[in-house]
Formats: sequence, C-alpha cells, structure tokens
Amino acid sequence: MSSLEIVLHPHPALRWKSKDVARIDAGLRVMVEQMFELMYASRGIGLAANQVGLPYRLFVINAAGDKDEKDQELVFINPQITRKNGSETDEEGCLSLPDVFGPVTRATKIIVDAFDLNGQQFELTLEDLPARVVQHEYDHVEGIMFTDRVASAALHKLQPQIEDYEVQFRNRQKEGLIPSDEHLKANLRELEKARTL
Ligand code: ZN
Repeated sequence: MSSLEIVLHPHPALRWKSKDVARIDAGLRVMVEQMFELMYASRGIGLAANQVGLPYRLFVINAAGDKDEKDQELVFINPQITRKNGSETDEEGCLSLPDVFGPVTRATKIIVDAFDLNGQQFELTLEDLPARVVQHEYDHVEGIMFTDRVASAALHKLQPQIEDYEVQFRNRQKEGLIPSDEHLKANLRELEKARTL
C-alpha cells in the first residue's frame, strides 16, 4: 500500500458516508499504524480513515496527543455510539481544515462500541475531551465536518478561511496536482469494494 496522506477540505472523501470494514487483517493494521504516525506528525488527537482518503468506518484517537503515551491510543473499527448524555460547547479544529476553529456543541458523556485491531468487540464510556474527539471522528466516517455543526453566526466568520481551502483545492485540480472529483470518487468506490461488506 502506498503511503497515506491527510486530505483537505473539500476532498470528496470527507463527504463520504463510509461502510463497515469486512475484515481486520494485516493490511488494515498497516493503515492504522500509518494513521497514528500522520496524526502525531500533524499534532492531532484523532484521525478518521476518511481523512486519509479511505472510505472505511474506522478512526484512531489519542486524547493526550503524545506518541509516548501509548496507553492513550484507541482504535475504533465499525464504531457505534449507543448513548449520549449532557451537552457542552467548546472549540474544535480539524486536520482536514488546518487553523480553522469554531464552537461545537457535543454530548459530554457517551457510550461507544467498536472492534479493536484484534477483532475483539469492546464498549467504552467516555467523558469530556475523549468523548468530544470520538464524536468528531465518528462524524467523519458519516461524511460530516465539524463546521456543519458550527452555528451560523460563528460559521460566517470562518467562511473566508473555508473558501480559501476550496479555491486552493480547485486550483490544484486545474493544475493537475489533484485528480478531478470524478476520479477521486471512482477511487473511493474501488477502495470500498476491496474492504467493505
Ligand atoms: Zn476532523
């Protein structure tokens, strides 16, 4: 597998509603390892497969953001958020929209179940920052960006920055540095066929 890179808004992978992965194998473990490396290199605390152009329901987090704190690393494969409680608004950012920050209201406490890299199903109760990160990453596998959840007054202020990313992306496509949306979507469909149910 070629090395992964983080895709930026408005890459179509970020609007892809991903499907469950069919099997957890060596290829998937390599993807996860590369996702952690990219996340740490970009100083992130969570990264979803959609953000590296892979249409799979899978994300990784380390709420401490420190690669030396391996015990904080969590891999969620085919995740489901089964319960949400409470609500709090806080600033969020995203590695696919660098330097854009806006307030998002999320549940303060969630119950999430998923499979780990050994194919074992687990259930976790998370609060505060880890709960926020999981909700943000879960949105990614649904094709939802955090900016979709920023209230319109705050979003209005972010709009020029977001539009800059759109202009840059379309310019790179015109220059042939990024394939067309049609090609990117065809590639996502191929990747989907290879690994999902
Ligand atoms: Zn994000």
